[in-house]
Amino acid sequence: MGVAGIKDWKQGIVKDEEIDKYLINGKDYIDDQSIFSVLKRQSDPDPAFIRDILQKSLSITTLNPDETAALLQVKDAELWQEINKTALEVKRKVYDNRIVFFAPLYCANHCVNNCAYCGFREANNLEVRRILTMEEVKQETISVLREGHKRLILVFGEHPSTDVDYMVDCIKAVYSVSDVAPKSGQPTNIRRVNINAAPMEMAKLKKLKEAGIGTYQVFQETYHRETFAKVHPSNTLKGNYRWRLYALHRAIEAGVDDVAIGALFGLYDWKFEVMGLLHHTLDLERHFGIGPHTISFPRMTPASGSWLSNNSDFNVSDENFKKLVAVLRLSVPTAGLIVTAREKAAIKQEVLQLGCTQTDASTRIGIGAYSDQKMEFNQDNKQFTIGDPRDLDAVIQEVGKLGYISSFCTAGYRCGRTGETIMGMLSHCIESKYCKLNAVLTYREYLNDYASPETKIIGEELIKKELEEIENSTYFQQKPHLLARFREDYGYIQGGKRDLYL
Ligand code: SAM
Ligand code: SF4
Repeated sequence: MGVAGIKDWKQGIVKDEEIDKYLINGKDYIDDQSIFSVLKRQSDPDPAFIRDILQKSLSITTLNPDETAALLQVKDAELWQEINKTALEVKRKVYDNRIVFFAPLYCANHCVNNCAYCGFREANNLEVRRILTMEEVKQETISVLREGHKRLILVFGEHPSTDVDYMVDCIKAVYSVSDVAPKSGQPTNIRRVNINAAPMEMAKLKKLKEAGIGTYQVFQETYHRETFAKVHPSNTLKGNYRWRLYALHRAIEAGVDDVAIGALFGLYDWKFEVMGLLHHTLDLERHFGIGPHTISFPRMTPASGSWLSNNSDFNVSDENFKKLVAVLRLSVPTAGLIVTAREKAAIKQEVLQLGCTQTDASTRIGIGAYSDQKMEFNQDNKQFTIGDPRDLDAVIQEVGKLGYISSFCTAGYRCGRTGETIMGMLSHCIESKYCKLNAVLTYREYLNDYASPETKIIGEELIKKELEEIENSTYFQQKPHLLARFREDYGYIQGGKRDLYL
């Protein structure tokens, strides 16, 4: 497509009527002044108030802005220990002790935007541009399957040549692939495809839904308007703050059940961004009765040709990063929290113990880099830098040593446990029960199909403990049919059947 064609395409993207319908008295849900005031009002919170807030989180209720701000402003180290302990407790109540694994698949890096922090931005001449063909998408899928993954998130720049029809083709290509597991020869395939892509109009979102996406993920990057304008030039699509602010409202209305929010930490004050994520959650709850399926909090890492990514005044220290994870865990108890391979192994390990629920492993972000390792080491076709390049087996082994069971569960959306239904189950701590059963079933598959001998030893111990816990649980004893089906499925998996879920 020529320059004139791209210009026309850009002009047709934003539909103002698909923003305006969500405004209240012409206002959106981010009020900078009110965020600054609440942070000021709660600048020295009473420990008794903090303890009440912890109890509220434990009852699995979204916090209000004052409560979140108060947690963010705690200074006392001992109180932080209580906060961290409660964060993990909340996670266990809602999601049990499992960590879900996924892999990102970067399909294309053409982009019409100029985000100051991103290697894909249009003006970055250092970037080698590439769009995977469907054959290449399938090849990448096979490489990811060989690691043991079952869940993918497809990532795209924003460009007419990789618009929604290309995305739909990619989704179909991924779902069409089947392979066999290396250790057992059992069949395997990707069971859930999520998408991280630019904001879209409802008609396009409906196409994604029809193609079978799981979660649609859009990060606001920064909720602070002035910073948003600084890092996203106004003559670009991404420069439209409100089009992005309501991307996930449109998605829910278009029928996408699970939506994922996030902020890129390091662009502006981290406390402000946490408040922005909370307001985003509250506005989704206000309009649709459900909050985000997951929240992401990537920290900016160096990107090719990006001065800002190496020189921000707002970089978040490890200490503050841990605080923001704990506060998010407590503020939105029902949301999954995703820590990505942008983080180094050591800090990732720490925040997994503060209530994160999902992470990626064996991650490659070069276009085509799962099939061709060279693409990963070529700095010129990557969006940013990753901190934890370990393969899936190594990470599963590590989380196993910490006592966490690794899950590839994709049962939720296939059993209709999405959107409003799953939010209800999460807040009543029922989903955690299914999480546990499905985590054990998919962990069993992983141990039989992919695990290294060292990982298997750790995994067998852990799974034995989990099975005992399930058998002794009063909840499952009161649900004999569920327990019987679980036992049966577990036996079938041991006998060679795959993809059984409850
Ligand atoms: N083009 C789509 C968009 O902008 O929404 C897809 C997103 S981009 C390929 C995925 C995410 O990577 C962005 O939303 C941003 O938060 C994150 N990202 C961009 N540059 C980054 C950097 N230097 N370090 C860490 N994360 C970065
Ligand atoms: Fe393009 Fe997204 Fe990168 Fe911005 S963050 S330059 S929109 S790929």
